[in-house]
Amino acid sequence: MKKLVVQKYGGSSLASAERIKAVAGRVAATREAGSDVVVVASAMGDTTDELIALARQVAKRPPERELDLLLHTGEVVSCALLAMALGDLGHEAVALTGFQAGIKTERRFGRARILAVNPHRILQELSAGRIPIVAGFQGFTDELDITTLGRGGSDTTAVALAASLGADRCEIYTDVEGVYTADPRVVPEARKLKDISYEEMLELAFQGARVMHTRAVEIGAIYNIPILVASSFTDAPGTLIHGEVDMERRNKVRGIAHDTDVAKVTVLGVPDRPGIAAAIFEPLAEAGISVDVIVQNASVEGLTDLSFTVSRNDLEKAFSLVRPVAREIGARGCVSATNLAKVSIVGAGMQNAPGFAARMFRTLASHNINIEMITTSEIRITCIISEDRVQEAVRALHRAFQLEKPD
Ligand code: ADP
Ligand code: ASP
Ligand code: MG
Repeated sequence: MKKLVVQKYGGSSLASAERIKAVAGRVAATREAGSDVVVVASAMGDTTDELIALARQVAKRPPERELDLLLHTGEVVSCALLAMALGDLGHEAVALTGFQAGIKTERRFGRARILAVNPHRILQELSAGRIPIVAGFQGFTDELDITTLGRGGSDTTAVALAASLGADRCEIYTDVEGVYTADPRVVPEARKLKDISYEEMLELAFQGARVMHTRAVEIGAIYNIPILVASSFTDAPGTLIHGEVDMERRNKVRGIAHDTDVAKVTVLGVPDRPGIAAAIFEPLAEAGISVDVIVQNASVEGLTDLSFTVSRNDLEKAFSLVRPVAREIGARGCVSATNLAKVSIVGAGMQNAPGFAARMFRTLASHNINIEMITTSEIRITCIISEDRVQEAVRALHRAFQLEKPD
């Protein structure tokens, strides 16, 4: 049977007419090599940011539904242009919006999850010999409203399509040559990984390595889709994200992620009694706000401080939900801060091996970087620190764990 690949091209790979023609050339070459190909395109360059800025110029709080309708046009533009460029190279291509491609989502504007993909139209186009070019980052609801999947969501469109089409693999083409031990723009000596497990990639993505959208990795893991991350500018071999990485291979940190999209809310002087945490966090959950790190101090004379972090975009909403609850439960007050960032070390080899946390804390201490909060998973340690120290922290940890050295 013919091989089927899904190829996704990110915004910087499609930033100009020249780049769109270059990408068309790569898609055509894949097709000429004998594979069937479905393409997912992101919006050109900074289009999404520009559309958000434009919306904010006309309205203080742009309504979510209209904002999604606006933002989804970015990917529609690049899809249509890419299909035209392919036509010029002698390949019949058909541009499809998320709606036309059958991507059904929940009704949650700005961060909708994909509920189902009806691949009927894509399969029809493939069997007619055309190359489907699907607009990433978007879908539609039961009510036929347009939704977007959250920033970076085109990766998720690509992996979801690969799963529903039973593709042999999903290829994510971007402006770096693969997944590195840290963001190569922050750590010049960061090393490209040959491969990485879904589990480790998921943690890195969730902690801010924006080279892959978290939910894309989740879907890849569930459906066991191999995902190649590679450059659309060069032919260098990329990084394969898959399930068969030998976990015992190294007792090492695999990568470091950092994220400046951190805001903290602290509820001060909370009475220490059952039900308080539930009262604070339930309204946040109902509003669809994900809470990341939570720290509750030891109680002194029956009072405790409770801090948690959310994405900066969610801060205003989170704060407005928590303030009345704080008043109701008799807390002393609420404060928020946005000058924070998080830095994480990730590696399956950290499981059951002592010493990683100590080395991380010692490294930060030796740079005089204060740790405000700490969280861990089995394969990750995260510290919340001051935003203006985060790049220094990433570089110091990269050195301390000797990540520049080959495996
Ligand atoms: P695209 O527009 O192609 O989706 P993104 O900007 O979303 O590209 O993601 C690619 C960027 O991710 C890179 O330019 C790089 O700065 C950043 N990045 C962060 N962490 C890593 C990492 N560990 N490996 C590679 N790139 C990373
Ligand atoms: N264009 C969207 C964004 O900028 C989706 C994506 O690029 O994946 O977030
Ligand atoms: Mg991206």
